[in-house]
Amino acid sequence: MERTFIAIKPDGVQRGLISEIVNRFERKGYKLVAIKLIVPSKGFAEKHYHDLKERPFFNGLCDFLSSGPVLAMVWEGEGVIKYGRKLIGATDPQKSEPGTIRGDLGVVVGRNIIHGSDGPETAKDEIALWFEPKELV
Ligand code: ATP
Ligand code: MG
Repeated sequence: MERTFIAIKPDGVQRGLISEIVNRFERKGYKLVAIKLIVPSKGFAEKHYHDLKERPFFNGLCDFLSSGPVLAMVWEGEGVIKYGRKLIGATDPQKSEPGTIRGDLGVVVGRNIIHGSDGPETAKDEIALWFEPKELV
């Protein structure tokens, strides 16, 4: 069954949005197969966002991701990679539709609350980066 990596970033955890976000994925009908709270190191954040290393915001983004607890999760279900990104909304909360997580709960792109894998390959890579196989139920 299809799986995706979803992470609530330090801003979302700090603002107390964990239950709100988990609730949206649960109500949709997806199955939670792994979850843990971790403070990633800067090097780990750089690995997670390696595709963006040429972008001007890369350093600030990795500083931010490693600035506090992140709720790392794996969710399972039919079409969860693509539809999970729909629940999340557009990257920039100014452009996310109301009804999406970023649209309802966020304001600026540098504090956009949540991450979701953008395709099958990244989902596989990100799950392997953040979790040991035995952590997936
Ligand atoms: P994510 O990978 O976190 O789920 P995304 O796939 O919607 O987000 P990406 O293009 O992968 O967007 O960018 C990764 C993250 O980098 C964004 O979530 C955002 O926090 C940050 N980011 C993207 N563009 C900008 C920008 N122009 N300025 C500052 N930060 C940015
Ligand atoms: Mg992305």
